[in-house]
Amino acid sequence: MLSPDKLQKAFKKVEEENWMLRAFLKGQDPDEMDSIVHYLHKELFESYDCIACSNCCKAIVPIVEENEIKAISAQLKLTAAEFKIKYLTKTDEGFVINKKPCPFLTESGCSVYEHRPENCREYLFTDKEEIWTRLINLVENCAVCPVVFEIFERLKKHYRDEFESYKVDSTATTPV
Ligand code: SF4
Ligand code: SF4
Repeated sequence: MLSPDKLQKAFKKVEEENWMLRAFLKGQDPDEMDSIVHYLHKELFESYDCIACSNCCKAIVPIVEENEIKAISAQLKLTAAEFKIKYLTKTDEGFVINKKPCPFLTESGCSVYEHRPENCREYLFTDKEEIWTRLINLVENCAVCPVVFEIFERLKKHYRDEFESYKVDSTATTPV
């Protein structure tokens, strides 16, 4: 698997192909796709050290809901107001963490793990149903998560013949 620091460069090389795979996958059997992605999720994450990677915590700016603000500020022994001033910015979508990488990321992982925002919990969805509804996020996550990048590469292998034909057909029908 690619090391986290090599991901950006590697993603640039396959980005166009990954968007094409996304278009191809939209036409595939959703249940089959779910079972392949779930299988790969289990196999790849079982042997991967997320704490040593932490790329997602360096890249995402999670929304923090009011109930999460309450829980995290209590853990940090701050009032909700103090917590907001120190760690959050108000946006149209709500309060978001005001720094990248996330200030709660430590060498041993997330320091507020028990109370981490729903946005962080939802970042990884390759074990969820109906992957076909999240293909855009999946392509975007290939630029951040080495495991998702690898899942996409394995999907290319799994659908190799059909995907190659799809690429030829798409190129032939692309208007000049
Ligand atoms: S709150 Fe925790 S899980 Fe969420 S981005 Fe920050 S360090 Fe990562
Ligand atoms: S980017 Fe992926 S592999 Fe890295 S810590 Fe996040 S979920 Fe784990």
